[in-house]
Amino acid sequence: MKRDTVRWGRIEIPYTYRFSSRKTLAISVRPDLSVEVRAPIDTPPDKIREKVLRRGAWIRKAWREFELYLPKQPPRRYVNGETHRYLGRQYRLRAEQGSEDSVKCLRGYLTVTSRVTPNSQKTKELLEEWYREHARLVFRERLAECCKRAVVQGIEEPPLFIRKMSTRWGSCSGKGLVCLNLELIKASKECIDYVIMHELCHLKVLFHGPKFWRLLVKLMPDYEERKRKLNQFADV
Ligand SMILES: [Zn+2]
Repeated sequence: MKRDTVRWGRIEIPYTYRFSSRKTLAISVRPDLSVEVRAPIDTPPDKIREKVLRRGAWIRKAWREFELYLPKQPPRRYVNGETHRYLGRQYRLRAEQGSEDSVKCLRGYLTVTSRVTPNSQKTKELLEEWYREHARLVFRERLAECCKRAVVQGIEEPPLFIRKMSTRWGSCSGKGLVCLNLELIKASKECIDYVIMHELCHLKVLFHGPKFWRLLVKLMPDYEERKRKLNQFADV
């Protein structure tokens, strides 16, 4: 099995490929989001890249349908006037110098105060730390809320981890741990709840079959709408 990656717009598509005695090339997206190509023997790697690229839109759609896919976000420079989000709202960044390091979210501004002359590295560090603190509180609160609903399906509150992940909003390990992307603190609470409920359902049903979606709709009847909003959020 070999590995390669193509870039389709802003999206990177890593994939594995192997050769088989088949006559045509087949591309599949697995439940863990990996993309697998089976190609006729001796297909040149360039040809495989080209085919994967041509299926870019289809792959993205599959990722979105089946998983909580987070596209690559535009890079941030952490300078004054830049837009940053928190719980679904947009704020202007204001970096200034002051007597102590702090971050305040007030009246449309995220004001980052540092003891040194503001620079983008320091601003980024302070803001990320602030996001992390708030993510710990908000995610825990939302998890507790979601678990109140999920408990009727025999789903118990799992241990929660927060990580920076580059391609997913959340994940659930086979050992029953739920992991949420730190980035999710930038989305609205209704979207955060969707991701949490999605992962809670995985504690009971691992793959995205009809059984999974039936369970999710029972616990969150408007999940489609929330999912749509989350995908739109990621497009900005
Ligand atoms: Zn899932």
